Amino acid sequence: MKQYRAYCFDLDGTVYRGTEGIDSAIRFIHKLQQNKIDYFLVTNNSSKTPVQLQTTLANFGLDVPEERIYSSALATAKYVNQHYREAKIHVIGSDGLFHALQKEGFETDKEELNPEVVVMGIDRTIDYMKLAKACVAVQNGAQLVGTNEDIKFPSELGFLPGNGSFVRLVANVAAVEPVFVGKPSPVMLQVIQDEYGYHKDEMVMIGDNYDTDILCGIHFGCDTIHVNTGVTSTEQVLQKPLQPTYCVEDLDEIS
Ligand SMILES: [Mg+2]
Repeated sequence: MKQYRAYCFDLDGTVYRGTEGIDSAIRFIHKLQQNKIDYFLVTNNSSKTPVQLQTTLANFGLDVPEERIYSSALATAKYVNQHYREAKIHVIGSDGLFHALQKEGFETDKEELNPEVVVMGIDRTIDYMKLAKACVAVQNGAQLVGTNEDIKFPSELGFLPGNGSFVRLVANVAAVEPVFVGKPSPVMLQVIQDEYGYHKDEMVMIGDNYDTDILCGIHFGCDTIHVNTGVTSTEQVLQKPLQPTYCVEDLDEIS
């Protein structure tokens, strides 16, 4: 297999599943670290701050500097700041998204009566009233921005509802089309390229989810590796019109 300068990994379903690490991926990243090859963790997970993700990775034996972690929360906060600077926002989400928006200068603790933007990331305490408020705000003209459109994500229990399920619910009620910032949008890979100056053919995107990770790499224009350790099975990938550069069972196959 071709050697790359920058290996970009998805997290859920690629490096770990819920609270269980995926050993082959952890071994692969250890090897990159030993050989001083660049790697990045590019996650649609918006619930955790980079420091919290760092702690999660440490539990699987991975010592990763904070600046190697790119989350959809950080990318979404940048997007909202670029497009709706000084707007009144209403946020549904977790620590990761709140922190990222505060870092970009947004007030997230006030109840805004007529928000101009509703920003949605995964919220594991979501309930009917939160969804109802978001539906009303968007019907009244607020823009709807989701950190990511994942309908589901794998856990040790099975698939659980992802942020995309809730954003779609609000979009359906308000009859609008939301904006999504996370994968498959190429925004996060673009940010890495801009910061480190790689050529696209020196980068590879590795992930378990065809519709997010692999399409993100394809949209961006770099090589892709699909691993059969999460959401999309190899059989499902083989039926897609656009194929990843490589399809593997797990990362032991290419180490
Ligand atoms: Mg994944």
